[in-house]
Amino acid sequence: MTEETDATPVTERTPLVELDDVSKYYGNIRALEGVSLEVHAGEISCVLGDNGAGKSTLIKIIAGLHRHDAGAFRIEGEDAKLGSPREALDRGIATVYQDLAVVPLMPVWRNFFLGSEPTKGVGPFKRMDVDLMRETTRAELLRMGIDLRDVDQPIGTLSGGERQCVAIARAVYFGAKVLVLDEPTAALGVKQSGVVLKYVAAARDAGLGVVLITHNPHHAYLVGNRFVLLKRGTMSGSYTRDEISLDDLTREMAGGSELDDLRHELERR
Ligand code: ATP
Repeated sequence: MTEETDATPVTERTPLVELDDVSKYYGNIRALEGVSLEVHAGEISCVLGDNGAGKSTLIKIIAGLHRHDAGAFRIEGEDAKLGSPREALDRGIATVYQDLAVVPLMPVWRNFFLGSEPTKGVGPFKRMDVDLMRETTRAELLRMGIDLRDVDQPIGTLSGGERQCVAIARAVYFGAKVLVLDEPTAALGVKQSGVVLKYVAAARDAGLGVVLITHNPHHAYLVGNRFVLLKRGTMSGSYTRDEISLDDLTREMAGGSELDDLRHELERR
């Protein structure tokens, strides 16, 4: 915590991550304007929007890839200026992208520890602790309820849904406080989407604050506590779960009044 007297006091309800009236411009293109979002421990905040709505830009700000131009970005109540994704990770923010950065031909356990391999032995005898990695991967996946047939199989042989689940389990194991998921169900069928959403809920139950980016209101409503709707870079709505029904969320995502206008127009023809 900073010593500054004007620092926001940390209360029980201080969000893990907060965007307050944030804007981001690329030259004169408005990618985001006036967007606010709260991410709390043990909750799932959903960000919904169509193509070009600004979802990727929002992820990039939280993940430390881009700086916002206006508004405030706070981590645990403190103004944050992240210089890189590494810094975001050090602050406990893990991002799982849709095109997961995995090495398809390497075993699941190798991918689980990629870049953070434990070693054993010293000096010239130092080597990767393969047994520990294998065993930990198996145990951690099981703890999340993921029963993989074999952690030795190349990760490329897993289904898209299973790979997402491994990535979520990995973030939980490496101590993430905030998990940002970039459209984890976008490329999946109904059954696999259900499996992934189960592990998203498991991460929430493990106490993480989750940001779930999606364009599917049904998926969002199955697990979400908060919903922020983006439209062409602006926030077209922000609700807690008790403020909106699935029907209204779906309607808003589909365009709400714009859809009504379109229907009238089509009927007239
Ligand atoms: P999609 O689902 O299609 O990826 P999105 O909701 O993630 O869309 P963003 O990628 O955040 O949307 O884009 C928001 C707006 O900002 C778009 O109009 C996009 O063209 C623009 N934009 C994004 N990145 C850049 C950039 N690096 N330079 C210029 N314009 C950009």
